[in-house]
Amino acid sequence: MKIVDIRATTVTVPLEATLRHAVGAHWGRFVRTIIEIETDEGIIGFGEMGGGGESAELAFTGLKRYLIGHDPFNLEELRFKICNPTASLYNNRTQLHAAIEFACLDIIGQKLGEPVYNLLGGKLRDEVPFASYLFFRSPNKPGGSGEIRTPEQLVQHCAQLKREHGFTVHKLKGGLYHPDYELECYQALAAAFPNDKLRYDPNAALNVEEAIRFGQAIEHLNNDYFEDPTWGLNGMRRVRSMVRIPTATNMVVVNFEQLAANILDLAVDVILLDTTFWGGIRPCIKAAGVCETFQLGIAVHSSGELGIQLATMLHMGAVVPNLSHAADAHYHQLTDDILVGGKMKYVNGAIKVPEGPGLGIKVDRDKIRQYAELYQELGGYMYDKDPLRPEWVPIMPNDRWADPTQS
Ligand SMILES: [Mg+2]
Repeated sequence: MKIVDIRATTVTVPLEATLRHAVGAHWGRFVRTIIEIETDEGIIGFGEMGGGGESAELAFTGLKRYLIGHDPFNLEELRFKICNPTASLYNNRTQLHAAIEFACLDIIGQKLGEPVYNLLGGKLRDEVPFASYLFFRSPNKPGGSGEIRTPEQLVQHCAQLKREHGFTVHKLKGGLYHPDYELECYQALAAAFPNDKLRYDPNAALNVEEAIRFGQAIEHLNNDYFEDPTWGLNGMRRVRSMVRIPTATNMVVVNFEQLAANILDLAVDVILLDTTFWGGIRPCIKAAGVCETFQLGIAVHSSGELGIQLATMLHMGAVVPNLSHAADAHYHQLTDDILVGGKMKYVNGAIKVPEGPGLGIKVDRDKIRQYAELYQELGGYMYDKDPLRPEWVPIMPNDRWADPTQS
């Protein structure tokens, strides 16, 4: 079987509200690039990439010269073709490779009539548990709905998500307001949901001492882990030595070199595997194997996903034995998806692993057209800018906090 074409289409799908984070915001929508890889047997596989609010169409079409004529079964050779470590000194294509790997796995699964999880060792679970992902939010339009700024709004929002989707683990995305204010918010969640687990992730915005202070203040709560409270393996190691909560990262252990460094001098207990950052589902499973050997915890990271990427997270989550924590997804923040029948459903805080051949999803071409048109109309957005503070530049560690009294 040979690849005969690759097509990339950038879409934008609205979010319920603008999601604010430590270095900027998702401006009321996600921008994702959907790829289709077509083979000489007429099988089409889908992949997805995105995250930074920009289109990646040209980057994918630029890889045509490498991909035409490639056999989708040759996944190892594909890795070296697209992201050879030496070539990557010039062109870091790891995330592009991830989307192409998703599509090739989708093709192989369709060809063999097997779901992707069966190509990866077989599933150990039928569903993957998820955490609610709580953001401080601003309305998409002035005067609009969906604001989350105060502890009361946060608790109310969390209660609604719990009612609708059944979450029992809640993740607060922080690093926006002063740590004292976010501590108050986190404590409000802990008081409102005493039997649920909590995690805090300020995307490394705190300095080491602030991170230690925050960590010690929440040590007695029902914490899942303490995610990227500060930057770097050395900072995380200092926090870990002073705070009795497992540390977690999706920021400073995102490749095998960093994983090795972390194992040789432990700074992070739980590695959050992202099928995009690591370059595909298979590298995540390989990393999960290393974590299994060294008895580190793992979970599934979300870099913002539509249904195609969500499917990759579900197949990965289904096959790794050492999935020690609920997965993250931004998915419940979306108003729609590009799948036939709309969004996948959470039941009791979990999503069922797709059963069909390949990734097991059906992409709705009308939806792709609709959201590609919306992208043409709205364009990209600056992930690392806050629309509410146009002059603000995020620094690390941060001390330029947003004002929680301002809507
Ligand atoms: Mg994170």
